Amino acid sequence: MDNGRFIQVILPLKLEWEPYYRLPEGMGVSVGERVGVVFAHRHYIAVVSGLDCHPTSSPDKILDIEGVETGLPPIGEREIAFWRQVANYYLCSVGEVYKAAYPSIAIRQEETDVRIRQQLEKRKERLLEKIGKAKFERTRQRYQAELEALENQRREERPPQVKSLSEAQQRALESIKDAFAKGKTVLLHGVTGSGKTEIYLNLAAQVLAEGKSVLFLVPEIALSRQLEERVSEALPEVMVYHSAESAVRRREVADRIREADACCVLGTRSALFLPHRNLGLIIVDEEHDRSYKQDSPAPRYNAREAAIMLAICQNARVLLGSATPSLESLYNADTGRFAKVELKERFYKGEEAELMIIDTAAERRKNGMAGSFSLKLLAEIHKTLEQGKQVALLRARRSYAPAIQCSECGKTIKCPHCNVSLSLHRNPERLVCHYCGHTQEYSGVCPDCGGELVPLGGGTQKIAEELQAIYPQARIARLDSDTPPKEEAAIIQSFAKAETDILIGTQMVTKGFDFSGLSLVAVLQADSILAQQDFRADERAIQLFEQFRGRSGRRGSGGLFVIQTREPGHHVFSRLKGEDDTAAILEERRTFGYPPYSRMIQLIFKDGSEKRIDYLSKELAEQLESSLEGVSVVGPYSPAVDRIADQYIRHIRIILPRDKRLSERKEMLVKTISIFEKEYKYPGHIAIDVDPV
Ligand SMILES: [Zn+2]
Ligand SMILES: [Zn+2]
Repeated sequence: MDNGRFIQVILPLKLEWEPYYRLPEGMGVSVGERVGVVFAHRHYIAVVSGLDCHPTSSPDKILDIEGVETGLPPIGEREIAFWRQVANYYLCSVGEVYKAAYPSIAIRQEETDVRIRQQLEKRKERLLEKIGKAKFERTRQRYQAELEALENQRREERPPQVKSLSEAQQRALESIKDAFAKGKTVLLHGVTGSGKTEIYLNLAAQVLAEGKSVLFLVPEIALSRQLEERVSEALPEVMVYHSAESAVRRREVADRIREADACCVLGTRSALFLPHRNLGLIIVDEEHDRSYKQDSPAPRYNAREAAIMLAICQNARVLLGSATPSLESLYNADTGRFAKVELKERFYKGEEAELMIIDTAAERRKNGMAGSFSLKLLAEIHKTLEQGKQVALLRARRSYAPAIQCSECGKTIKCPHCNVSLSLHRNPERLVCHYCGHTQEYSGVCPDCGGELVPLGGGTQKIAEELQAIYPQARIARLDSDTPPKEEAAIIQSFAKAETDILIGTQMVTKGFDFSGLSLVAVLQADSILAQQDFRADERAIQLFEQFRGRSGRRGSGGLFVIQTREPGHHVFSRLKGEDDTAAILEERRTFGYPPYSRMIQLIFKDGSEKRIDYLSKELAEQLESSLEGVSVVGPYSPAVDRIADQYIRHIRIILPRDKRLSERKEMLVKTISIFEKEYKYPGHIAIDVDPV
């Protein structure tokens, strides 16, 4: 009896296997084509992953596919290979990667586009017919013009305009090319202002000229917008792409990649999952940046690592650039996996910003503080504004005040759904939870004792208000995640054009923006950045401070970098004074067996019941300890915020040695968790985060 032919497909689901379907008589498909299928009574568009399969289950129970989605462009085999690498490394299903790469809204858009394109083709055919039949020259010409207008939707091409490089940049470029020729990934460690971007653009132009494509990754959307102008000046055809783009835009970019021989995409991490082909180079700018890591949902990937996987699938080269490289990349350079190229000379010949650390506790004792500001910092701001220069201030907390406390009984007001303090916001005045979005009215009266509530500390909103009161004439702007995304670009642009005097914001103000008039940058309450309960806190703080310092005095004269802190003796500050202690930090990591000397996997439990989460997380930790040898299991423990949106949170950290048995152990880990989930009927509560940041 002929049971027909069977295929395997990838479904956009968290599914450990790739289910079988039957091909109806006379129907042919190839790997990568998309087919409509029914799975668990729901309709999906799946990707064909295997042909002529021999199903293990009874063939009678296997469903027919519903049909081939001939209108949707097939997925390339290299693309699927990339998904498999990501899934394998980040311990998720290949279906979850497919879902990230092709969100259903984008697929619907693809279907619409196909219809539009078919209509367009028909119109062209009709016009051609009419041209053939036209009796008068004038009529023929009219149809001809219409046809040309239809076909003329491509942009004009123009030659690249790459700036010439300094001697130091030229040397770095040659070293990069040498390392590429040896097949190495390159870490470009260039001090701020050393002109890394020009090197990127030069390399990109060469790759494009050789007929290959370039993917240029940046950590933030706002950054991609700022870079767009510079990149499109230098390169003939640049497409900007990030996850906030519409499905229509995604289609445009995907189509262009499929059609063009060579193109350049500038985007954030999600641009990795475009249907790349013919890639020659991937640039990862600010490679240390945390925004490259996707925390949720799966795949919980880091774009820096995923870029290397994509490059392997595409036979492309990878260039990682940073002024403060991640320890992971420095380690990879030390062990010879990467080649390191250094660029120590500042291109714009500006001096590095001078450092001034202000001890706020000492100043307070001497009456040297006015609200959030030390008088010393105010004097510097005054001087800067008088010179017609600009100021940027970093405060790591948005809102008016990050906490509220009763002046009588000492109670702090917490979110009813999360274990965190509510923040006070003004205009309009309300209390907001920064974790779940809960909002409530602010009465100023303690719900327990009726005492008066007082704001604790100052967030960006309060700092802007204080400063406006001191400098009523100054043009002050604020940039944090309360800023509507549409206004972000305008605020940055106005500061770049020196139409704003002072910019106050959270971490967003430290990113790679290039402001020529900015000569004073200052961190307020730096202690909130230092006081993180994590072994990476120092590394992160240093990167943030160095990045922010680099924003001032980029062109011409060196600027001033002020830090206000209660802990002026903190060792992070000695690094800023020029003592390079990377070796010491790495040594410490080695001693404690932390990454990059090991691999870390974090299990994140979420559950509405505290009793159940505590019991089951402990149970799994014990099982892991006995089933995985040679690894250390830490926890379960409660993270700093252990309840969000009515879900309790517990973590288990697993530290695995970086040896040949790594992937075997990772596999074992997934298996243990999967058996555990079945045994305790506990699916959907445990997330696996590989290389958490
Ligand atoms: Zn009270
Ligand atoms: Zn909340």
